[in-house]
Amino acid sequence: MTFEELKLAPAILQAVQEQGYQNPTPIQSQAIPAVLAGHDLLAGAQTGTGKTAAFTLPILHRLAGTAAATSKFGSRGVRALVLTPTRELAAQVEESVRTYGKHLALKSTVIFGGVGMNPQIERIKRGVDILVATPGRLLDLQQQGFMDLSTVEILVLDEADRMLDMGFIHDVKKVLALLPASKQSLLFSATFSDEIRELAGGLLKNPQSIQV
Ligand code: AMP
Repeated sequence: MTFEELKLAPAILQAVQEQGYQNPTPIQSQAIPAVLAGHDLLAGAQTGTGKTAAFTLPILHRLAGTAAATSKFGSRGVRALVLTPTRELAAQVEESVRTYGKHLALKSTVIFGGVGMNPQIERIKRGVDILVATPGRLLDLQQQGFMDLSTVEILVLDEADRMLDMGFIHDVKKVLALLPASKQSLLFSATFSDEIRELAGGLLKNPQSIQV
């Protein structure tokens, strides 16, 4: 399979080519068509498999092709939310969003705890299409009234097993409760415990399952 066969927008294919990628990895050739078709996804994938591009590329394609809703703050509302367990992973994922989206006009930002809130608040106020966040800081900002998550169209739980291992289940559930019911949800995890399956069961609607 080639990236061209995945029917991604030319601006995205160009960015992929500039990265020097020859062909999609197995998780990418399976996940990208499913996400483009609007399905929820339950994906078993370790880090290093190309899982970040597997969700980022189709999300960029979907958002680039449709108009944004306006949030209650007057700016564009957050359209895609990626939750990660750690600040390092959040920063890495957002870097990938920037790389693959560099020929698109979508705005992304990353928020995580342990650093000042004000720069993050300023960036949110300027409007964000794709937000990558750790759950705790996201909730802090939401509870302080800086974050409208009612416009989210696509949710990704990345490394869901690590998120639960690190004790974030309650925070994750609180974030999920802030999102609209009609959204596309993608769950990526390296392992599948009963707890992950329960979380997936409550979140995903008729998901396609992929295991690499
Ligand atoms: P990830 O599993 O998302 O952490 O990605 C692991 C590494 O694979 C990253 O350094 C990516 O830049 C790289 N990568 C992702 N997709 C491809 C691809 N289709 N071909 C070659 N390298 C890739």
